[in-house]
Amino acid sequence: MVYVRPSLCSYCGACVSVCPQNALTLAETRLVVSEACTDCGLCVRACPVGALEARGEGQEARGKGQPATRNSQFATRHLPLATRYDIIVIGAGPAGSMAALKAAQHGASVLLLEKRQEIGSPVRCAEGISHEALTRFWEPDPSFIAATIERAEFYTVAGGRTELRMAGEGARGYVLERRIFDRFLAEQAALAGAHVAVKTAAVGLVIEGEKIRGVQISTGLAQPPRGCKGQSPLPGGVPPEISTIEASVIIAADGVESRVARWAGLGTHLKLRDTLSCAQYLLAGIEIDPAAVCYYTGEEIAPGGYAWVFPKGEGRANVGLGIQPDVAREPAINYLIRFIESQPHLAQGSPVTLVTGAVPLRPVENIVGDGILVVGDAAGQADPLTGGGIPFAMAAGALAGEVAAKFAGARRRRALTGLEEYKARWEADWGRRLRRNYRLKERFSPGDRISHAFLRVFAVATAAVK
Ligand SMILES: Cc1cc2nc3c(=O)[nH]c(=O)nc-3n(C[C@H](O)[C@H](O)[C@H](O)COP(=O)(O)OP(=O)(O)OC[C@H]3O[C@@H](n4cnc5c(N)ncnc54)[C@H](O)[C@@H]3O)c2cc1C
Ligand code: SF4
Ligand code: SF4
Repeated sequence: MVYVRPSLCSYCGACVSVCPQNALTLAETRLVVSEACTDCGLCVRACPVGALEARGEGQEARGKGQPATRNSQFATRHLPLATRYDIIVIGAGPAGSMAALKAAQHGASVLLLEKRQEIGSPVRCAEGISHEALTRFWEPDPSFIAATIERAEFYTVAGGRTELRMAGEGARGYVLERRIFDRFLAEQAALAGAHVAVKTAAVGLVIEGEKIRGVQISTGLAQPPRGCKGQSPLPGGVPPEISTIEASVIIAADGVESRVARWAGLGTHLKLRDTLSCAQYLLAGIEIDPAAVCYYTGEEIAPGGYAWVFPKGEGRANVGLGIQPDVAREPAINYLIRFIESQPHLAQGSPVTLVTGAVPLRPVENIVGDGILVVGDAAGQADPLTGGGIPFAMAAGALAGEVAAKFAGARRRRALTGLEEYKARWEADWGRRLRRNYRLKERFSPGDRISHAFLRVFAVATAAVK
């Protein structure tokens, strides 16, 4: 029987093409091996990344000591990493890449880890950003801009009726190509001197006493992190490829799925009511204003959230919605399909991409620990009214990168400086805005989201993010 190392597999399908038994099936991010496998080893040789191993009856039939496959003899190689950096950033989204960039610019040695094989993909975003939020850090570059926005329209849906309630000219902004934008940010970090490693997951922290000393990384088998239950995908027990890298500061930028801060003992769990559960299609073949973003509120289309149409060039748009899962009766995708069916100009389109995900709607209290800073979605740093998180992630990352570099430099000089500066400066500026918007979100019940009062505060919040 052949076994798959999930954390090495890049889901390319080369193995499927050579299997004479049709024993392999490639699901989107899962390779399934069926009982029909005869352990012939052909797929193992076809795999470009050494993600397969044959170690069953076929091997025994070949005789003891006879390696079944090439991968039993050779470990898969990886680009080398140093054993110590000043700063390790976990996660190469906007928060992590900005942290790595700023830390490197401030003279620190930086490792930026990303578990995915392609930074920025798959996209989990509607990709909207205001002109002010983007240009605070970057000039809009045609390579990562899909559409330029000049207008915003606000609709309410009640009793099956859609009504345009507010429209604003001059709502300047962009719809990004996040796949390109996120990669651009990581490239900027690399150009500034940070070491970027893809397909490299953080799987645990090295903690001595209360102090975090480093990160355990996996470039091979998915290994259960410290203190967590887990199973080796290889029952035969191939040793996990885990290594330890030391650092003075860890920056947890691992997004809404964050585990790193929890490993450090910082409570970052969210309540259901503090998440926005989202589903979105990229629709092609629709008639829309290519320079207008449209927002739709109403309990029947998106309880506790809203629907959006963000254009991505002629005839294409990100059409999605987010719901508050504790008050919604059905999953977000059901609301999305009903919403699209209810809007004739959208119903004529074809979905070419499905995006799903969640946004944290409540800022996390503990964003600093002994040797760790938490940034971006991992710290709940998204707007509680809109779910927009890119500007906050970039701002938090930049600030954390700067503070961490100062801290690491001071340690080298044995001077005194604290990581708490990150929290203090964040709270005094962006954090205050997030807390105010969280209070506003709490003030309006899902039923109130069609009120003029809600639309006014919502419009202000969308203009700030997108
Ligand atoms: C459907 C949807 C629509 C949205 N629309 C908008 C919008 O229009 N505008 C806006 O501003 N915001 C929007 N957001 C929110 C926005 O996408 C996030 O706030 C933003 O991406 C947060 O950036 P981040 O860097 O904190 O996290 P992420 O972008 O999620 O990056 C985290 C990275 O960490 C990596 N990672 C995780 N664990 C590990 C590990 N153990 N080891 C190594 N790497 C790891 C992940 O693979 C990922 O690449 C939307 C979100 C969703 C779900
Ligand atoms: S070992 Fe042979 S039979 Fe088994 S999955 Fe690979 S190619 Fe197919
Ligand atoms: S050939 Fe290797 S990397 Fe490609 S799908 Fe098969 S196991 Fe995965």
